[in-house]
This record gives sequence, C-alpha cells and structure tokens, in this order.
Amino acid sequence: MRRASSALLCLALLLILAGCAPQARTATVFAMDTVMELTAYGDKACVDEAVSLIHALEARLSVTAADSDIARVNSSGGGEIDPETAALLKRALELCKLTGGALDVTVYPLVRAWGFTTGAYRVPGDDEIGALLEKVDYAAVRVEETAVSLPAGAMLDLGAVAKGWTGDEIAALWREAGVKSGLINLGGNVQTVGGKPDGSDWVVGIRDPFSEDVMGAVSVRDLAVVTSGGYQRYFEQDGVRWCHIIDPVTGRPADKGLASVTVIGPEGVLCDGLSTALYVMGPEAAVRLWRENAGFDLVLVTAGGEVTVTEGLEGRFTPMGAYTDKEIKVMRRG
Ligand code: ADP
Ligand code: MG
Repeated sequence: MRRASSALLCLALLLILAGCAPQARTATVFAMDTVMELTAYGDKACVDEAVSLIHALEARLSVTAADSDIARVNSSGGGEIDPETAALLKRALELCKLTGGALDVTVYPLVRAWGFTTGAYRVPGDDEIGALLEKVDYAAVRVEETAVSLPAGAMLDLGAVAKGWTGDEIAALWREAGVKSGLINLGGNVQTVGGKPDGSDWVVGIRDPFSEDVMGAVSVRDLAVVTSGGYQRYFEQDGVRWCHIIDPVTGRPADKGLASVTVIGPEGVLCDGLSTALYVMGPEAAVRLWRENAGFDLVLVTAGGEVTVTEGLEGRFTPMGAYTDKEIKVMRRG
C-alpha cells in the first residue's frame, strides 16, 4: 500500500515537472549564405519572431540584395539608413579602430574583385589590387545619426559583423520574452541564452580547420562563440587556396599564420568583428590585442596546428579528436 502511494507520488511529480519544463522550439533558416539553427525553450512565438528578425536584418544588411541599406549607400555614395543599420555601422567602425584597420568595413571593392560575393572567383592583378586599395579606408566613412556618406568609389560590407549582431539581437529578444535557455547557431557564429534547460552549461564545439571534425569544445552560458577561418569559404587556383578574409593592407586573402580564430565573450558583434580581424593580424598580434582589452577569450589554431587558449578558458575548453593529446598553450595576462 505504501509502495503504491509513493509510486503514485513519483508519477504525479514527474507529470508536474514535465508540465513545467519549457518545450524546445526549433527552426532551421537559410539566410546570410548560412544554414542557421535556432532552439529556444519557451513559446513558439519566440522562434517565429527570431526567424522574421533574421530575414529583416538580411534584407537591410546584405551587400548583394539590391534594395538593402548597404547596397543603396554603395551605389549612391551615401544616404539615409535604418537606425539599426546605423547602430551596427557605428559599432563596426569602433571595431575597425580597435583592430587598427585589420577589420575594415570598406574592404568590399577587394572582396568583390576576388569574386567572393559574386561567385566569379579570380586572382586580380597587382595593378587592379593597388587601385582598389586606394578606396579602402574605414576612417573616411561618415555617419551622422542615420545619414552615411562615403568617399568616391568606396563601398561598405558588414559581412564580418552581421551574424554576430544578429545573434545579439535574437538573444535580446528571447531574454525580454523570458526565455531562460536558448541556442542560436548561425554557422560559425553561436550565441547562447542562459545554460541548458537542465541548468548545466551549453557545450559548443569548435571546428577543426584541417578536417570535418571538431577540435574541441567550450562550456559557456550567456556567451557568444564565434569562429573565423580560412577553411570556411575559399577557392583554389594554381594550387593556392585563397580565402574570403582579405588583409586590408595587402588587398589579398589574409595569410598571417592562423588557420582559425575563435572569440568567446558576451557581445556577439565584438566576437564576430574580432574573429575576422585577428585572423588577419596573426597569432602574436592577436594575443597582444587580447592582453590590452578585456571582455573576450580566444582559441587560436595556427597554420601549423598549434593551439593557444587564453586564461579565461581554463577548465572550460576541452580538446577533442586529433587534439586530445596535443599540448594546449595557455596565455596569461599577468
Ligand atoms: P563568415 O561571415 O564567413 O562567418 P567572417 O565573419 O570572418 O566570416 O567575415 C568574412 C566576411 O567579411 C567576408 O566574406 C567579407 O564579406 C568580409 N571581409 C573580408 N575581409 C574583411 C576585413 N578585413 N574586414 C572586414 N570585412 C571583411
Ligand atoms: Mg567575423
């Protein structure tokens, strides 16, 4: 009799818990040239609103969509843009400055010449690269409220920060709606809301730049995990691999000794901008920038396969697969 009633009590408890646990709501979206996976534990409306937000942001920010804010500014050398596009552009310009121009939102004439937005991949000649480099200068972009003006021939591209910004926007939307647990996976850009529904941390895998496997994972909550690497988008010509991240000094795909850079921190747009910029800068300059600035941690994989993590990741980064027995160097500020 007692056993029967305790079994009933357990069953009742289980039913109550199941009733309380928020349900996983998911969506898969193809936008910004990326397969995106959204998971929120909460109302279905949260995921639907996030999907609409992604499409709205893409329509405003895409450099190729004919009627976007960015395409309009690029074709007429300036104009009025949406307040949110202006806010992102201002944040991006701060990151260009922070990285000494390794991130440069005016690198688009070169991105286009190499074929990365058109798909017509080619290696431009030295003269062409030299002429296009003259148009690259983020410091010449003027933004007053929502009015932008560009110097003659300059063109904007927010591709290096758009997904990080999108992740931040979705996370803010979900937090406002009371979502306690969510995972926003925008390709190499992951943003987390809270921890997992069971209260443990989210475990986010980091791609091995040399294979299809993961090289490790970080356990995080309320943080973004953003990776840039030469393996993500590239073409090959005459045995050389040319990647989609352009060094604004040389006008050529960046080649400073890094295979991938992962930036982990609370602000997705900062992580996204930095992952692109640090890839351009190379390992020593990347660590120097980390030492001089708070608010993020790094996982660097060099072209030779060496791994460096910054001290904030100690105990939170687990090497995996081919990296399990590798030496992992830990960088400290002190
Ligand atoms: P992805 O968008 O593929 O995840 P990134 O965040 O690293 O990768 O951004 C790369 C994109 O940013 C390129 O496709 C190009 O549009 C643009 N880009 C390339 N080099 C630079 C640079 N040095 N500064 C700013 N934007 C860049
Ligand atoms: Mg980026």
